[in-house]
Amino acid sequence: MSDYNEMWRSLGLNMKNHDQLMQVLPPTYHDVYLMQPNRPEGMEYFDFVVNEIHGLRIQELQEHKKTGGKVIGSFCVFVPEEIVIAAGGISIGLCSGVEIGTAEAEKVLPRNICPLIKSFMGFKLGKVCPYFETCDMVVGETTCDGKKKAFEILNDYIPVHLMETPQMRRNRDRELWLGEVKDFANMVEETTGNTITADNLAKAIKEVNGKRQALQRLAKLRKHDPAPISGKDSLVIEQIAMYDNVARFTAKVNDLCDELEEKVQAGEGAFNRKTPRVIVTGTPMAIPNWKVPHIIETSGAVIVAEELCTGLRYFETEVAEDGQTTDGLLINLAERYLGINCAVFTPNIGRMDKLLQLVEEYKADGVIHCALSFCDPYTVESNRVEKTLKEHNIPMLKLETGYDQEDAGQLKTRVEAFVEMISEAKR
Ligand code: SF4
Ligand code: SF4
Repeated sequence: MSDYNEMWRSLGLNMKNHDQLMQVLPPTYHDVYLMQPNRPEGMEYFDFVVNEIHGLRIQELQEHKKTGGKVIGSFCVFVPEEIVIAAGGISIGLCSGVEIGTAEAEKVLPRNICPLIKSFMGFKLGKVCPYFETCDMVVGETTCDGKKKAFEILNDYIPVHLMETPQMRRNRDRELWLGEVKDFANMVEETTGNTITADNLAKAIKEVNGKRQALQRLAKLRKHDPAPISGKDSLVIEQIAMYDNVARFTAKVNDLCDELEEKVQAGEGAFNRKTPRVIVTGTPMAIPNWKVPHIIETSGAVIVAEELCTGLRYFETEVAEDGQTTDGLLINLAERYLGINCAVFTPNIGRMDKLLQLVEEYKADGVIHCALSFCDPYTVESNRVEKTLKEHNIPMLKLETGYDQEDAGQLKTRVEAFVEMISEAKR
């Protein structure tokens, strides 16, 4: 990696905390990612992006800012990135997938709170994330209570625009959400100083749809047996989707898919044919949270799909491109985003139906429900998931964990037993 120390210092990072993070990330990536057998060559680009996670991309964002451009951060796939792009800004998904700055975070948050919330607060208060320090503002949402209240605190340290996300999908909820999307567009115009027009919004929608189509193409290839790519590699691509340059990322995913298509033709895979196939569902796995996927794929199974926000929920549906006016396109955006099957909705039948559909389409042998500790929406909703899957005789394993490695041995024992059980059923 080039010497980015000066850039990090100029961003006001706490260099001691930051060094600690940078000492952990590369060896973890090496052990979890680079040691996998049969990796596609096209992963080289994504390995490079992770290697440069605090380097080249930050440099690009700084260049953008030098010319007056704005960078807007977010934590949830409900925030419509198309609006930021239309106004000439850059939208960045802030990661929150690692335990860092915990002592600082616990000064303002309770100890027993979801690790994702603790992580973003720790990143900001510990001054370890160059993305956070590059953002002109961040967008929060009222999806869950923990986040909603944490954003009030975060606003003491960086300007936060809050979007009220509905918890139901009645007509009045749709109206509320459309109003929120419009307010967000107004705020982005004010922040960037640029007007959102039907033309630039249509272009941004097309661009982000292109990214989604590339990810859909990748997902579809994973329906094959043997799976041409590991779940871990797919997950890191889905995580990078949140912050990489859209056009470059889309092109690289499509290049990778070209290679994977050839592998599928040749009957080659990342794992042997008939390896037990698993779908992972639950809370988002923000970069660099690869703990459970690593355990699963080193326990004899392959992950073939992620029913996660760092997965299908992010890209499975597109925004309709047919609106003629800015308002018409904002309606299309609001409609698409409200369709995300997040556990904060009640009821959330769409997620149950989706899981049944995925098990069939991806020929999965089982589902692993993985929720972050203290996440009420997902830990409670796991009951509905379990009931649905049981009714259809689909094996399911329920896990609850944080970002620390303390329970890794215990999780591995449980995952191995589950994989053994679904392998038996497959024989
Ligand atoms: S799980 Fe819900 S709140 Fe979390 S990122 Fe996804 S949509 Fe947003
Ligand atoms: S993982 Fe659960 S508790 Fe944590 S921010 Fe997401 S919805 Fe909220």
